[in-house]
Amino acid sequence: MQLDAHIVRLRLAETFVIAREARDEEDVVQVELTHDGVTGHGEAAPIERYDESAESALAFVREHGHLIGDDPFALEEIGARLAAIPGEQAAKAALDAALHDLQGKLLGVPVWKLLGLPRVGPPTSWTIWLGDPDDMARRTDRVAGRFRRLKLKLGGGDGLDVDRVRAVRARTELPLQVDVNEWWSLEEALDAIPRLAALGVQYVEQPLPAGDPGGAELKRRSPVPIYVDEDCHTLADVAACADIAHGINIKLAKSGGIREGIRMAHAARALGLGVMLGCMVESGLGIAAGCVVAPLCDHVDLDGNLLIAEDPCPGVTFADGVQVPSEEPGLGVGGS
Ligand code: MG
Repeated sequence: MQLDAHIVRLRLAETFVIAREARDEEDVVQVELTHDGVTGHGEAAPIERYDESAESALAFVREHGHLIGDDPFALEEIGARLAAIPGEQAAKAALDAALHDLQGKLLGVPVWKLLGLPRVGPPTSWTIWLGDPDDMARRTDRVAGRFRRLKLKLGGGDGLDVDRVRAVRARTELPLQVDVNEWWSLEEALDAIPRLAALGVQYVEQPLPAGDPGGAELKRRSPVPIYVDEDCHTLADVAACADIAHGINIKLAKSGGIREGIRMAHAARALGLGVMLGCMVESGLGIAAGCVVAPLCDHVDLDGNLLIAEDPCPGVTFADGVQVPSEEPGLGVGGS
């Protein structure tokens, strides 16, 4: 198979702020795998939190792309070869997505159908990124009606996180979910979460730092389900998450692709855990791969391509709050 890869810069429609950082643009890596004259496309959205960048992802693809081999259907063997090299999960996800896209195009079916999955999953949340409470309430007003649930980024470090949720709740009856991005201590979480429960928050994502020893106690005492994101990357992490959380957040940029994401969803179900699907800032190509896993999830946060000023890879349709993948072969995005 012939492999090409390059960096694509995505300009955000507005500055995106979470507890760790503020961004105006994001770089992703797009890969193309060509076999028998057909090209599959995939995208990597590297996560800085895990010391990945577009440059490191591109370097991984260029150095290790030969491990793909010549059979685009040998996903299990290809995955094992790639997994033997630690790190660069986003780059692996891009290769996995390109292989799925290629398979679908070679067979003339969309990837969701190829995998025997329904076409659509739950509605996506819209992310209200971190700001002061009034600002977050104003931004809620602007999206009301377009989305069926909202995810609030918390972790302001200023004692105002519950006020943020209260300010948003005063503007909307939509289901609210919050993501603390590791910013609270156990004491802060035990203080805030009962007050968030009173405001009707559906779940709290990653309140404690990854690996925090207070996780099991928080799970036991929290009146609201705890979902972990930074604590859960691949299948190997899922079992331990049952001790500290009620659910896991799967992201293809952490799992290394669609195939491992599906494994994680099933493992979580076996452990009685809830499943959510997250994303990074991504073009429609990255979101199209996420859409494949979405029908296996209880909660979906796939707004990455809706946050950018102009999607260079259209193909996913946002309809009535749901991200709907194409019916075209493969991922249905990014050329033929
Ligand atoms: Mg998160």
